[in-house]
Amino acid sequence: MKNTVDISAVSVRAMIKTNNTEPNNTKLCLAKNRSGKPCQKYPIVGRMRCRLHGGLSTGPRTEEGKARIIAAHYKHGRRSKAFLETRKRMWAALRKKVMEMKIQGYL
Ligand SMILES: [Zn+2]
Repeated sequence: MKNTVDISAVSVRAMIKTNNTEPNNTKLCLAKNRSGKPCQKYPIVGRMRCRLHGGLSTGPRTEEGKARIIAAHYKHGRRSKAFLETRKRMWAALRKKVMEMKIQGYL
């Protein structure tokens, strides 16, 4: 049959997505929730936190994935290291020039 679906893999993914899993050794997530109390949901199997508190994703692993996240968060570059260094050098050069002109009597 062509259109067979691996039911076990699908159901496992569905269980993980919905956190409809067996209690994970009866340990709770215990992350601080918005009301300031510890979360009472069970963690994702094999993880320490529930799906709402970081159990579902652990972020990018590959260098390519990390670079993609950095690129996605880049807004205008006015706080980038390169821009700040350039601005710092320009202001230092300007201050130096002003000081030279003051010494020479132009200012
Ligand atoms: Zn939680």
